[in-house]
Amino acid sequence: MTDCIFCKIIRGEIPSGKIYEDDRVLSFVDINPINAGHSLVIPKKHYDTLFDIPPEELQACIMVCQKVARAIVKGVGATGLNIVQNNFRPAGQLIDHAHFHLIPRHEDDGFLTSWSGTAYPPGELDKAIAKIKASL
Ligand code: AMP
Ligand code: ZN
Repeated sequence: MTDCIFCKIIRGEIPSGKIYEDDRVLSFVDINPINAGHSLVIPKKHYDTLFDIPPEELQACIMVCQKVARAIVKGVGATGLNIVQNNFRPAGQLIDHAHFHLIPRHEDDGFLTSWSGTAYPPGELDKAIAKIKASL
């Protein structure tokens, strides 16, 4: 039996605001929402990160993401929605049970309004592509 907080939610040992459930996937509201309606989608089996989820369960998760995302947008009257998925501490993952954030967005709500990237120095873009392709 795992101490994982999301596994405890799945087992009903701690309360959650459940939105949707089937045999493989659960969705419930995030207790610290970016905006009202911010929800999480998780596989019912424990996997630490996205990288560990087997294909069928991952497929089930993304289908539920689409279904619940539609309902959130309609339900709270959002005009946008981000799906965010953090893996490992450097990417901001705090709960080590793989999960998708569904974040309803509104005009000028102040969250993630700018995405500031930096152009590759000369030659670096091709190197990055080559490294990734060699790792596929
Ligand atoms: P992450 O940083 O991607 O691991 O996000 C974990 C998320 O889980 C955060 O947004 C938390 O607010 C949320 N969270 C933590 N505990 C609970 C809980 N008991 N019920 C609902 N959401 C939770
Ligand atoms: Zn878990």
